[in-house]
Amino acid sequence: VNLASRCDLQRTCKSAAQRTIKVSATATQESSDKVQIDWDELSFAFTPTRSMYVATCTADGEWEGSVQPYGDLSISPAAGCLNYGQGVFEGMKAYRSTKGRVVIFRPDQNAARCAQGAARMSMPSFPEDMFVEAVKEVVAANADYVPPTDKGSLYLRPLMLGTGPILGLAPAPSFTFLIYCSPVAAYFKGGQLTPIDLKIEEEFHRAAPGGTGGTKCIGNYSPVLVTQLAAKSDGFADVLYLDAKENKYLEEVSSCNIFVVKGKTIATPPAGGTILPGITRKSVIEIAQSRGYEVEERPVTIEEALEADEIFCTGTAVVTVPVGSLTFRGEKTSFCGGEPGPVTDELYGALTDLQLEKSEDELGWVVEVPGTA
Ligand SMILES: *Cc1c(COP(=O)(O)O)cnc(C)c1O
Repeated sequence: VNLASRCDLQRTCKSAAQRTIKVSATATQESSDKVQIDWDELSFAFTPTRSMYVATCTADGEWEGSVQPYGDLSISPAAGCLNYGQGVFEGMKAYRSTKGRVVIFRPDQNAARCAQGAARMSMPSFPEDMFVEAVKEVVAANADYVPPTDKGSLYLRPLMLGTGPILGLAPAPSFTFLIYCSPVAAYFKGGQLTPIDLKIEEEFHRAAPGGTGGTKCIGNYSPVLVTQLAAKSDGFADVLYLDAKENKYLEEVSSCNIFVVKGKTIATPPAGGTILPGITRKSVIEIAQSRGYEVEERPVTIEEALEADEIFCTGTAVVTVPVGSLTFRGEKTSFCGGEPGPVTDELYGALTDLQLEKSEDELGWVVEVPGTA
């Protein structure tokens, strides 16, 4: 199926040279206001910042965007995203590196994934070069909200939405791409590298073959809350989903991918449409391979997971987090005696050293945000 052809607005936008990204006067003026945040009190709660980036797609398929003061959106009650869930999001982080500058990690990958997700939702793609440029603009405009090195990061949330009014089920007539941000610290309480307890969920599934599990479409995330909240009330951090077809292979957690370690071999479920192709997942695979591990992208059974040496999850929000235990049908299996496993620890160190420019970035994954040093 050629999804792209289904959307009128899929027509390519003007070339990069013809586009201009305007920084609004207000945002620049306000940047002299002093930001007062207690960096030691940060959590993953939402803290609005000074500015956001907003772009709209005109009827002739051209995008126009600018950095604007952070604020509410005004959209029609008949907006496609409100009625039919026409929307995809991204998640990224800007760090203040040990070199004293603000950097982002593999933004081209988020741009490409956003475009793929938009196509799946019959939305026009936001040009990938413009995406990366917009991320840099919004980070630069909020640079004083980027926490000091090792205190956290500025979480960035790009959103692509069908915002035009539509009554019958069809793509919205117009679209909005925006990026807002929030300074954050560790995702799970307890902090970075604190092992989490997961419950294996057999009744509910996150995604099915042919569905939308492989995209960050907005509709994928509220359906997991019913299981996540139930698990949380039983003391678990989150739920581990199984494949919808046979109910015996691991898929992923509500918002992060999973890896199972046995000796020098690391297995992770294949990104074949039902799991989200994480950029952290992809990066950790490459880092592990470069350090001599055998990485296998293949179906992983529950039994195999329960016999693993260690298990960890990956995602932009969680980075890498060790799984302290898996509970299956009421029976709890612990890993590494509740401590982060050595492989998890090694890969976490390698990834974060790269992201914070503590180690040499040989692969060109770390991108400087101009004007933030
Ligand atoms: C975003 C997300 C991930 C992690 O992807 P990253 O690109 O590493 O942040 C994993 N699973 C789900 C369901 C997600 O939404």
